[in-house]
Amino acid sequence: MKTIIEPFKIKSVEPIRFTTREERIEILKRAGYNPFLIHADDVLIDLLTDSGTSAMSSKQWAGIMDGDESYAGSKSFYRFEEAVRKITGMKFIIPTHQGRAAEKILFSVVGGKGKYFPNNTHFDTTRANVEFTGAEAVDLLNEVGKHPEIRADFKGNMDIEQLENFIKITGKGNIPLCMITVTNNSGGGQPVSMQNIRETKSVCNKYGIPLFLDACRFAENAYFIKKREAGYSNRSVLEIAQEMFSYADGVTMSAKKDALVNIGGFLAVNDESLAMQCRNLLIVTEGFSTYGGLAGRDLEAVAQGLEEIVDEHYLQYRIRSIEYLGEKLVAAGVPIIEPPGGHAIYLDAKRFVPQIPQEQFPGQSIVGALYIEGGIRSVEIGSVMFGKYDKAGKLIPPPMELVRLAVPRRVYTQSHIDYVLEIIIEVFKKRESLKGYKIIYEAPMLRHFTARFEEVV
Ligand SMILES: *Cc1c(COP(=O)(O)O)cnc(C)c1O
Repeated sequence: MKTIIEPFKIKSVEPIRFTTREERIEILKRAGYNPFLIHADDVLIDLLTDSGTSAMSSKQWAGIMDGDESYAGSKSFYRFEEAVRKITGMKFIIPTHQGRAAEKILFSVVGGKGKYFPNNTHFDTTRANVEFTGAEAVDLLNEVGKHPEIRADFKGNMDIEQLENFIKITGKGNIPLCMITVTNNSGGGQPVSMQNIRETKSVCNKYGIPLFLDACRFAENAYFIKKREAGYSNRSVLEIAQEMFSYADGVTMSAKKDALVNIGGFLAVNDESLAMQCRNLLIVTEGFSTYGGLAGRDLEAVAQGLEEIVDEHYLQYRIRSIEYLGEKLVAAGVPIIEPPGGHAIYLDAKRFVPQIPQEQFPGQSIVGALYIEGGIRSVEIGSVMFGKYDKAGKLIPPPMELVRLAVPRRVYTQSHIDYVLEIIIEVFKKRESLKGYKIIYEAPMLRHFTARFEEVV
């Protein structure tokens, strides 16, 4: 097989600023050992997130010039609406400035105390927006998805049996909607199968509960279905995506992922009365219904991005670059979630640094080491991000301690990825010298963004 190449030429470049190891030790300390508090200019390879970090195409940039900035009825809105409708088939399409704004509006309308929202795994902002209304966010990931070392095709799947039991115990009246996140970001970027979406829909239908997709990475998920699920190899990614959405009653999406833009999102629903309530709230918090929190040019770029994302040469390169990094790490003995997901490599911190207990944030320690060794910025997805406290103030850790290296879309080339690989292996070789951290400051919600740490000596 021939090398899978980047399916684009580079027309515009952005220089990277180099730093020394000594400088980085100081920088990290100043940032309270929190990668979110490091200045981006002090980062060599930024794998903090794949969100809003895509390189836009020349056609998207042309769209930026072409955007119609009319307050109401902008032609860019209609192009955006058509692009979203072509893929999702949804009746009512509401632009928002990013994914969490769609979540905020949706859960403000349907959430509240005594309400429960099942999901394969809530993303952090989704969980926060559910909980902010007083409702409870419940993760019902299938068992295989909880074991980083087990290889399976669809580790993002919902546990159907648990879902049905949960509905029976909780009562359908307390569950305004059920959600599936594709791909499952917090669960390792793992895909959800079409069969699982279909089965979830059928359970939801049985109890009259609407099904929503958190569709940030729908195209990556559709590509995995094409490659891994029987009966889909001859279907186009667009057709597969359309089938995925055909089982949904609503969609929230951060366009900062699979719409290849730097800002944007939407909420789309089929129910007219829900759409009206959401639109009314949108006008109070985001803006008029034909722009949400966006400029006309942003809507134009989203519309173009949604056309480009279903390109199968792009998706082949995209999924392969992650898989390539994963293969080499596994060959070097580095513990990762296997198989690699669609947008990121997740290091399994429990196996990487078994000497660091969960109360000392093993993932955060690896994040620090990757920055110091190679200027690589990654993020902990474990006890820092999802840890809770019990009544005695003791940490209740989540099931997994992970470090995510998210790969921005169309930004880095294979040699950047090779460098990342070298640094991870270097850190792995000195893993026994890594130390744990303790928190010295934390906010009451989404603490990982602003928390400060100290090394445990
Ligand atoms: C990024 C993301 C969100 C939130 O979107 P923002 O644009 O960052 O507000 C919600 N769900 C998932 C699965 C995501 O990856």
